[in-house]
Amino acid sequence: MAFSHSRQGAVANALLPWRCALCAGPAPAGRELCEGCEADLPRVAQSCPRCALALDATDASGLCRRCAAQPPKFHRALAPLAYDYPVDRLLLGLKFGGRAHLARALAGQIAARVREEAERGLLDMPDALVPVPLHPKRLAERGFNQAEEIARFVGRDLGVPVQPEICRRTRHTKMQSRLSDEERRANVAGAFLCSKAPKRPAIVDDVVTTGATVDAMAAALSAAGAERLHVWAAARA
Ligand SMILES: [Zn+2]
Ligand SMILES: [Zn+2]
Repeated sequence: MAFSHSRQGAVANALLPWRCALCAGPAPAGRELCEGCEADLPRVAQSCPRCALALDATDASGLCRRCAAQPPKFHRALAPLAYDYPVDRLLLGLKFGGRAHLARALAGQIAARVREEAERGLLDMPDALVPVPLHPKRLAERGFNQAEEIARFVGRDLGVPVQPEICRRTRHTKMQSRLSDEERRANVAGAFLCSKAPKRPAIVDDVVTTGATVDAMAAALSAAGAERLHVWAAARA
């Protein structure tokens, strides 16, 4: 039993049940979202197997237009949630609100999708999870790396080791959110340095937007010996 056996502890537990991070209603103990909010999360049903971009059902047999023209440096990407309300709020809360515990809710979504795809024979388990690193300066500002928090929960859930020490950011890059697609690529090009990469790592991030960051990291992991690269994110914009 996690709660205190003292009478005071029992009273406090009864008065303060676990609250849902979205609707503030009661949530099952130890869960960040209530069952209703979790069921209502916007999920992506059909996506490009290469970059996880949502596709119409009619396109589902192939790659998205962009990957067909110029495939990314990673081989397979998975992102169960659409970057719409309320996923955007959860991700902002995780990143800027210091609510690191939201990582568990998002990690649960990734792990569930990984299991689904593995059962359907669409995915082979990676050797290790490598979270997208923050520059030490940004890590000091934020106090934690949201990608690493997510990776730790996913790794624990699926029994895959997490190796954050493999890659680091060598440059303090600008925040990507206000940059154009082209600027994003230039901003992160050569920003990562990786060593002793496993053969089949999965890069883990909270959200993949244009894919520029994970592509730059995939290039660094390939240079360090990785042969087949997955990208796992909670959401794809
Ligand atoms: Zn709720
Ligand atoms: Zn694609």
